[in-house]
Amino acid sequence: MKKDSYKLILRIVLFLYMFLNSNVIVNAQSNDNFRKLQKNSLDQIHHKRSLSKINPLQEQQELGVNDSIFKLFDVDIDLTLGEISLDMSWGDPVKNPQIRGNKASNLYGPVRYNADGSVRWHRGFDYYAPKGTPVYSVGSGVVSLVQKHPDYGLCVLITHKRPKKTYYSFYAHLSSVLVKYGEDVHKGTMIGKSGTTGNAYDLTDQEEHLHFEYRTSPKHSDRKQANPNAILKTKFYSADPKNKWQANVGVVKKGGQSLFE
Ligand SMILES: [Zn+2]
Repeated sequence: MKKDSYKLILRIVLFLYMFLNSNVIVNAQSNDNFRKLQKNSLDQIHHKRSLSKINPLQEQQELGVNDSIFKLFDVDIDLTLGEISLDMSWGDPVKNPQIRGNKASNLYGPVRYNADGSVRWHRGFDYYAPKGTPVYSVGSGVVSLVQKHPDYGLCVLITHKRPKKTYYSFYAHLSSVLVKYGEDVHKGTMIGKSGTTGNAYDLTDQEEHLHFEYRTSPKHSDRKQANPNAILKTKFYSADPKNKWQANVGVVKKGGQSLFE
């Protein structure tokens, strides 16, 4: 009897030891992956992928990152979450929206350049938003993702189900999030505050912004962003879309701010 209880205690101790150890290993691995991903931002990965038709193995060697690492930070979105809403109206993610620096290179599209002169897409709008600026849901929907991402920082994805189509809005570099996964939100619901998390960590003053994306598919790796003007209340355009250097071009604002008037 005594021997049996000793055995039992020994088993429990052994189990706890293995359990704790496996957690330590998993954490160490994901921290390591996190550092690798920070060095290889999503934009870099996709830029290199688009430039060359290299095979995945070559790509892994070249970037020091593989799809399994990349996918660690992508999350399958539960598409059954949320109800279809008949409210088709859209607002803006910040009050009195302004584009960061008033520059067309902070709009959506092939508006940026890499050091080698090749075109780089910006996949959303950067709104001027000093740290702590309230951020609002642009429409009724459900919070489908709250995540800490190496590039996007603290970010929120909202699924907007409509009778004929599902839309997704995405808010990045936040300093805080005020909603929970699975929570229903409405147009104008405050979902968090802007910040400089993720790859915006070194930005200050006029460069502090909210990165906002309109997506037609929820996953980061699907890269199905589209022009936010398709849904937003206030729309922004390049003042000179044909100019090669959009960083030298201003923006034109159209539409009202009736959401907050
Ligand atoms: Zn951005």
